[in-house]
Amino acid sequence: MHYGSCLCGSIKYEFENEPFDCCYCHCSICRKLTGSNAGAYGSVARDDFTWLDGERNLSQFKPTSATTRYFCRSCGSFLLTEHVAERHNVCVSLGTLDSAIGSAPEYRQFTGSSATWSRIRDHLPTYDAWPQSSE
Ligand SMILES: [Zn+2]
Ligand SMILES: [Zn+2]
Repeated sequence: MHYGSCLCGSIKYEFENEPFDCCYCHCSICRKLTGSNAGAYGSVARDDFTWLDGERNLSQFKPTSATTRYFCRSCGSFLLTEHVAERHNVCVSLGTLDSAIGSAPEYRQFTGSSATWSRIRDHLPTYDAWPQSSE
């Protein structure tokens, strides 16, 4: 079992199995959401994911009709994304994990939208937009 929480500790979650399809997303929405040059995410089967505590403290935001983002109402931690196109999975913000996981981001998407100050120094595959739509 893996565990995660928000910065103030009021919201806690757990999930079974390793996150899959882990990536960094450099799109303009994720940059604003995280206040950084990319969000780091991993997919988890919805049936494997459970809010343990503080669910009433969750706030939702829909930057587009395709996604719902979940935050802690108190501290602002960005914990989870639901994609309309991926009903069976949720997307965990990896920075909110408290557990060591075996998986790690395997690629960078939307690097075509990278911040001008972003300097990528690893050798992960990069995609201008979605991985399936560009090389
Ligand atoms: Zn919090
Ligand atoms: Zn993004």
